[in-house]
Amino acid sequence: MKQDTICVQGGYTPGNGEPRQVPIIQSTTFKYATSEDMGKLFDLEADGYFYSRLQNPTNDIVAKKICELEGGTAAMLTSSGQAATFYAIFNIASCGDHVVSSASIYGGSYNLFAVTMKRMGIEFTFVDPDCTEEELNAAFRPNTKAVFGETIANPALTVLDIEKFAKAAHRHGVPLIIDNTFATPVNCRPFEWGADIVTHSTTKYMDGHGAGLGGCIVDSGKFDWTKYPEKFPGLCTPDESYHGVTYTERFGLGGAFITKATAQLMRDFGSMQAPSNAFLLNMGLESLHVRMKRHCENGQAVAEFLQNHPKIAWVNYSGLPGNKYYALAQKYLPNGSCGVVSFGVKGGRQAAETFMKHLKIAAIETHVADARTCCLHPASSTHRQMNDAELAAAGVGADLVRLSCGLEASEDLIADLAQALEQV
Ligand SMILES: *Cc1c(COP(=O)(O)O)cnc(C)c1O
Repeated sequence: MKQDTICVQGGYTPGNGEPRQVPIIQSTTFKYATSEDMGKLFDLEADGYFYSRLQNPTNDIVAKKICELEGGTAAMLTSSGQAATFYAIFNIASCGDHVVSSASIYGGSYNLFAVTMKRMGIEFTFVDPDCTEEELNAAFRPNTKAVFGETIANPALTVLDIEKFAKAAHRHGVPLIIDNTFATPVNCRPFEWGADIVTHSTTKYMDGHGAGLGGCIVDSGKFDWTKYPEKFPGLCTPDESYHGVTYTERFGLGGAFITKATAQLMRDFGSMQAPSNAFLLNMGLESLHVRMKRHCENGQAVAEFLQNHPKIAWVNYSGLPGNKYYALAQKYLPNGSCGVVSFGVKGGRQAAETFMKHLKIAAIETHVADARTCCLHPASSTHRQMNDAELAAAGVGADLVRLSCGLEASEDLIADLAQALEQV
């Protein structure tokens, strides 16, 4: 099936007389006739539900749709994008291990890696996404367990050379994990370029309406853990907490990673998405293919308008021919990137604040990627503890405005920007 059809119908095919809409199974627990039946679930010998901290049927339907969209073999939902990122890495890296990550990633992921996971004994080396293959290869250590990057980085809008990162990861016998939140599988399917695991903050375009927090992990089933059993003992040797199950043996390459993340990490950390949120997420997915097109059209129109405006210092949008990432975007994102555009207002911090104060359609929010256009001035909000020199070093200038183009008419968005710029 084509992506558009999967968006609408994937993951769920009701039988005769069953609900047409994905049912919300609002139940923490599930009933069994005998203890023996339930025992089989606890030994991972039978498939089934017993407690919604680990698995829920509504969530599994929605995860299956995202799995089909990405072209994977197995998937799971999580309560947030942060949980998805954490689980994807912690599933294969423990205390004493090392991970190579692109330096151009979401701020929340950076904190998770550089502060919290570091406290757990996992070390990260951050590399410039535009580095050479030699520089990238030099970042690996004998204890490296994974490589991480974002298809389109939030907020820097860097486009990752996925093939370059996949090649380096595979040369060192580890998987490439890609956060595909901004591109969505409608605009890029990282597995087709060599990525092994994909993560999402479904809070963004997938939900698309700012309604529910959520995350997702998808496995391509292509990474052969059994070639490196000493590197990935959690997948290739018996799990004592499940009576000696070896995930790669019992569930194969297509199922081992997600089964382990569900059976161990979801059991122990419980970052489960509420089934009612999964229902809302599915509603968002039903129109994802239609919405992404409009987000990209609006992003392009707004970027072109801003580029030609005398009060704008610079515009960063990979759909503009002069952009540093234009060529990579043409390769990895031929149908468009996303609706997020960043730019600088001439006059710096003060000008940016004045400009934003006068916007009428674009609301000031610490959010991106939903139906309503919103914007943020990091220097006076998310990054306000930094002075101008520190901001510049972080690649977030005092003049930077991040605008997330929604689904409104581009003419209205442009008129709103124009009138606010007149006030500067
Ligand atoms: C928002 C975001 C996250 C974190 O997702 P939450 O759902 O907010 O936990 C991770 N990666 C990217 C690229 C994001 O934009």
